[in-house]
Amino acid sequence: GEQVLNLLDTPAEIADLPGASELPEVRGTVELVDVSFRYGEDQPLVLRDVNLRIESGQTIALVGPTGAGKSTIAKLINRTYDVGQGAVKIDGWDVRQIKLSSLQRQIGLIPQDPFLFSTSILDNIRYGWMEADLEAVIQSAKLANAHEFIQALPDGYQTKVLEGGVNLSVGQRQLICIARTILTDPRILILDEATANIDTLTEALIQEATASLLAGRTAIVIAHRLSTIRRADMICVVANGQIVERGTHAELLAEGKLYQQIYFSQFGQGPTRG
Ligand code: ADP
Repeated sequence: GEQVLNLLDTPAEIADLPGASELPEVRGTVELVDVSFRYGEDQPLVLRDVNLRIESGQTIALVGPTGAGKSTIAKLINRTYDVGQGAVKIDGWDVRQIKLSSLQRQIGLIPQDPFLFSTSILDNIRYGWMEADLEAVIQSAKLANAHEFIQALPDGYQTKVLEGGVNLSVGQRQLICIARTILTDPRILILDEATANIDTLTEALIQEATASLLAGRTAIVIAHRLSTIRRADMICVVANGQIVERGTHAELLAEGKLYQQIYFSQFGQGPTRG
């Protein structure tokens, strides 16, 4: 499975360098400087000379074909992997100089299909901050649009999540993950939007929750949702391991290149929603 693959493919053991620092409370500026990366010595380059600066509080949407390198960019930012060449910097700190635990504490991650523990929904939400009281958990769940469905469950917040989260839908698992992230309140977010089919109602709840989650944070979104893409401060089109276009939705549409193609093929040409 994934675990074994990751072990085999990890180019270098990710560990704290001797003398690694605690990352102070960050403002949330994220920077990739001349970043190149391959998953193994005998593997092709999957990122080539990527430069990207994300100001504190900005949302960057990464779009582009499958296999282009979007997730790899995200994985270098939270240091799932280390860059081959160049550097990833947070508030000017090279992430390799920082203790991994203190880095990952300040970066919230919302995967496409979030992992939940086989424990209560309450504990799943306060996983990153076990001292949080019920009041704080409910507050976060409300902001995440998760409160209503949780309350409707047989045991409410005490409902036990079954192995693999099978008693919840993917969309509900995302809402719980959003609540968890709102509670821990990281300055930087990595959001991998679900591509799975989610029912229209849950989809609307997620869209709204995502908007409140992103507000005031620095966010890197692997974006599939038109509403997120249009609201992003900057869209980066990734192709073949490079950022080939960048700008706002309107700017990129007007350029009439790859973004326009992707946009028309994914979202159609008619009046747009979202
Ligand atoms: P995207 O997110 O744009 O779909 P990825 O960043 O996942 O693209 O993948 C970029 C390239 O890196 C692809 O060619 C993919 O096959 C390869 N890749 C991704 N993860 C691994 C891995 N763990 N080991 C080897 N190659 C990988």
